[in-house]
Amino acid sequence: MTARIIDGKALAARVQAGVARRVAALQTRGVTPGLAVVLVGDDAASAIYVRNKVRACESAGLRSLFVHLPESTSRASLLARVAELNADPAVHGILVQLPLPRHLDASEIVDAIAFEKDVDGLLPANAGLTLMGRPQFRSCTPYGVMMMLESIRYPVRGCHAVVIGRSNMVGKPMAMLLLAANATVTMCHSATRDLGSITRQADVLVAAAGRHNLITAEMVKPGAVVIDVGTNRTPEGKLAGDVDFAGVRVVAGWISPVPGGVGPMTVAMLLVNTTEAAERSIGASPPRSPLLAENGPATADASP
Ligand code: NAP
Repeated sequence: MTARIIDGKALAARVQAGVARRVAALQTRGVTPGLAVVLVGDDAASAIYVRNKVRACESAGLRSLFVHLPESTSRASLLARVAELNADPAVHGILVQLPLPRHLDASEIVDAIAFEKDVDGLLPANAGLTLMGRPQFRSCTPYGVMMMLESIRYPVRGCHAVVIGRSNMVGKPMAMLLLAANATVTMCHSATRDLGSITRQADVLVAAAGRHNLITAEMVKPGAVVIDVGTNRTPEGKLAGDVDFAGVRVVAGWISPVPGGVGPMTVAMLLVNTTEAAERSIGASPPRSPLLAENGPATADASP
């Protein structure tokens, strides 16, 4: 068997086309969704991620506001900047790029973002709503993974999904979204014993450990869907995932590559969440799925 590829880049372009339609509908009502991206310091990888997000905003018609602050920014001035963005009606979503410099407490800064602008879905209130099965903002990376499953029309209901990683940003919300879609979910982490005995039971395997080549062919059930969230640098400096792509491709039914898999979907879902925030700000309902917005009429169904 050679697995079919889940092309995250192509799917992200489809999602962004849907976003552009929704943005155009919002603009007829005088609203342009705005995303503020806050970067503190000059970390090279963070700067690339931020640039990609700002560019994606612009190409889908959203307004982006790039707030670049020096490494030495104090806790008080960063909190004050976040408060300003919270109060700015042109800003519908706020993203603070992580990691922050060591002298800043990331939880404290993220918790200062207004609930209705938390487009990364990281506030405890948003995480709690996701846990309760009624998410407001879904964390972007897990949301992108769910779109990937939807795009291949995978019957998630009743399947056994195994998630490797339990971070607040990826692993935990991933498990919750799969559970809400009626998968039977197993979560694994660094203390999990005999990882392969669990991953071999997975119909859907989501790898989000940040360990290059953690998942090898003998750890995968034949025909499984394997989604690789991991973003690692090889000793040669190449971008690579957690999955041994060449080996696993021979066993799996579907597989997402790195690069070109989950990464572009994460950016696309950030645009979706920002657009949803703008829609909610005028009482309009977001579509049931961002993929439904791709061709059909954008929903701007409630009057402000
Ligand atoms: P994280 O906070 O470091 O969490 C990693 C998780 O993996 C932890 O729960 C850890 O377990 C678990 N883990 C580590 N080694 C393991 C092993 N050998 N076996 C089983 N579990 C193991 O990282 P994250 O923020 O969730 O991100 C995970 C990966 O996804 C990283 O490579 C990151 O760069 C990437 N990522 C990609 C995107 C994208 O858009 N493509 C977005 C976000 C993150 P413990 O909890 O026990 O320590």
